[in-house]
Amino acid sequence: MAEKPVDLARARVLITNDDGVAAPGLKLLESVLLPLAREVWVVAPEVEQSATSHSLTLRRPLRIRKLARHRYAIDGTPTDSVLLAVTELMQDRPPDLVVSGVNRGGNLGEDVTYSGTVAAAMEGTLLGIPSVAVSQVYLDGRPVKWATAEKWLGRIMKRLTGAAWPPGVLMNVNLPDVAARKVTGIEITRQGRRKIGSDIARGTDPRGEPYYWIGAQRREEGYHRGTDLEAIGRGAVSVTPLTMDLTHAPTLARLRGVFK
Ligand code: MN
Repeated sequence: MAEKPVDLARARVLITNDDGVAAPGLKLLESVLLPLAREVWVVAPEVEQSATSHSLTLRRPLRIRKLARHRYAIDGTPTDSVLLAVTELMQDRPPDLVVSGVNRGGNLGEDVTYSGTVAAAMEGTLLGIPSVAVSQVYLDGRPVKWATAEKWLGRIMKRLTGAAWPPGVLMNVNLPDVAARKVTGIEITRQGRRKIGSDIARGTDPRGEPYYWIGAQRREEGYHRGTDLEAIGRGAVSVTPLTMDLTHAPTLARLRGVFK
């Protein structure tokens, strides 16, 4: 699977998400991939698992619920879903491609470190399968422009699978919050910076105890050119190749000098 393009027309594709098996984005992803791929398997969490990151369920057993042919729900996380799909449900022949999404909401900048959507693609990558995370950006309280993902996703998937990428690398795709016809193009970007958690609501619960509730608002700043955030802000589709190796090479080299 190393740096070999995926032949989508012959591919067995596993799709999953972190919004749950009944989420509209998963249905959309399936409808886009069904005409393009030979086989599409759905293995996704029973209930929403957004922001569960790359968590694995270790302290209780997992159950697989068969919904239909090639369609299963897992009472666990996105990572559990990919792991059980590959090692149990599809063990006769592993998937050629894992696609996670379409997430309701962007996964931009530091979001990728919290995201269950991206983590599912990470799990696929760790299992040696080319993997793609897909997210549709939207503003809280506004309708999600699913038509944008629907219109652009087939094109993006065809071009991505035709390009090969090395093992240990996954693709993070985000669609902008604009109408399909207003999308300016597809841009290859780097991970930007925008920390979540700047608005924490504080209150008192019915028993008089204080509580804290992390909101969705991010500190919006000027974004650097060439980043996912900046491209999305201009109405472009953003494609970011991410790596599972979190080592920072320049610091590694410098510290080796310091600790010599
Ligand atoms: Mn989600």
